[in-house]
Amino acid sequence: MITQQPYVGRFAPSPTGRLHMGSMVAALASWLDARSQGGTWLLRMEDLDPPREVPGAADDILRTLEAFGLIWDGEVVCQSDRHALYAEALESLKRGGHAFGCVCTRKDLASTAVDGLYPGTCKAGLPDGETPRSWRFDMPKDVQRWEDHGRGPSSVAGDAMGDFVLKRADGHWAYHLAVVVDDADQGVTHVVRGADLWTSTAAHMALQQAMNLQTPEYVHVPLVKNDLGQKLSKQTRAQPVSPRDAADVLAKACQSLGQPIPDVDAPHAMLQEALASWDVSKLRENAVS
Ligand SMILES: [Zn+2]
Repeated sequence: MITQQPYVGRFAPSPTGRLHMGSMVAALASWLDARSQGGTWLLRMEDLDPPREVPGAADDILRTLEAFGLIWDGEVVCQSDRHALYAEALESLKRGGHAFGCVCTRKDLASTAVDGLYPGTCKAGLPDGETPRSWRFDMPKDVQRWEDHGRGPSSVAGDAMGDFVLKRADGHWAYHLAVVVDDADQGVTHVVRGADLWTSTAAHMALQQAMNLQTPEYVHVPLVKNDLGQKLSKQTRAQPVSPRDAADVLAKACQSLGQPIPDVDAPHAMLQEALASWDVSKLRENAVS
């Protein structure tokens, strides 16, 4: 039973820029949830998409977390060192009949996709002599249900995801495969992350089932939005958080997680107070769909 395992949590940023308020909230929530249960907190760098990465960002993220007092356990794991694990996972999915080769180009999909989802063109097999450009997961249509500690009872239909890509035509591993393989390989029992990944949980659970992996507990935390109601990201030009404003940043982060704002000034004392008062059930009151 998963509840009897020691708690292992993680924060898994992509080095596509400096930490902004949205990523800080996810980092803080996963740290608080892990530490409040005496758990381990791992740090994994999700650096599988070199074209999107910014030189120096990985190091900057680590230094910022340290400055805020969010100290991880053990070595930082980098996805870029783990290609062999993902290749092995893809082979096991192919053997189990869960993955299929796809020759569709982006241009093909622009005209064939249904509601933005893969239409199943290559599912029945490729014509003789065709080599797959990418590999896709044969996503079961059943509804995936889980008890989300951030949002309450959750269900997402398999067809909301479509047959998503496991390995891209450019040879890069897709996020969904890597995150599932890594969480299982690192023994992660609790995934605390932004609500933008709530729907993707159906994809992750289906992959876990196809590979006979344990499903961790999921906690999706509210997204931080800007004044225009957009999710904070590099695309929406979110400003990086600065350790110089640590007290302010921590107060805002606690507020957006529905937690009491610590009434001390020193950032490290604030963190301890936030830890003492962390109540995951308050996330639900703050959850927005
Ligand atoms: Zn195809």
